Amino acid sequence: TDPVARPADGGSRLTVLAGPTAVGKGTVAAAVRERHPEVWISVSATTRRPRPGEVDGQHYHFVSEAEFDEMVATGALLEWAVVHGAARYGTPRRPVEEALAAGRPSLLEIDLQGARQVRESMPGALFVFLAPPSWDELVRRLVGRGTESADERQRRLDTAVAELAAEAEFDVTIVNREVHEAAEELVGLMTGHPA
Ligand code: 5GP
Repeated sequence: TDPVARPADGGSRLTVLAGPTAVGKGTVAAAVRERHPEVWISVSATTRRPRPGEVDGQHYHFVSEAEFDEMVATGALLEWAVVHGAARYGTPRRPVEEALAAGRPSLLEIDLQGARQVRESMPGALFVFLAPPSWDELVRRLVGRGTESADERQRRLDTAVAELAAEAEFDVTIVNREVHEAAEELVGLMTGHPA
């Protein structure tokens, strides 16, 4: 089915942007944030520590393990996952509901595990897969410059293969050739006015 041709529901539709590690989801979301203030973008909670320049409440809600446990226990998260085997990341539920109720086109930029959970709870959302211009290039980037152990290389390759196969679960694919083009294409899909 063509997602653009689906009946409009007042514009208040949730869009989930996911894709393989290192494909540039965060960069595309940042480009949308910069140019399209009409689009509401979820701020995730995470247990990882802030990187230099990251602002609490803006890039993420940086929370303790105990605070994250509490969010999980009280059902405050729409979805959550352990990403890269390290920190936990999750989408606070209430702000998403409020943005949708206000009729704003709303975006989640999350990993594939999270996208699957949202599909269970909000099957009417639009699921957008961000793909690299070439799979070979993504695998090259994931494998890196040969500084990892053979085990680590194999783990990353296994992850990449599984992530690439997930494309079939999505409604539509955007190829991330150039970040601003990808961002415009995404906003076009979200608002029903394709770039
Ligand atoms: P980073 O630590 O580099 O900011 O993000 C690492 C990964 O976490 C990215 O792949 C991003 O898509 C994912 N991520 C960020 N927020 C969320 C979230 O709320 N839920 C899920 N499931 N993944 C997230």
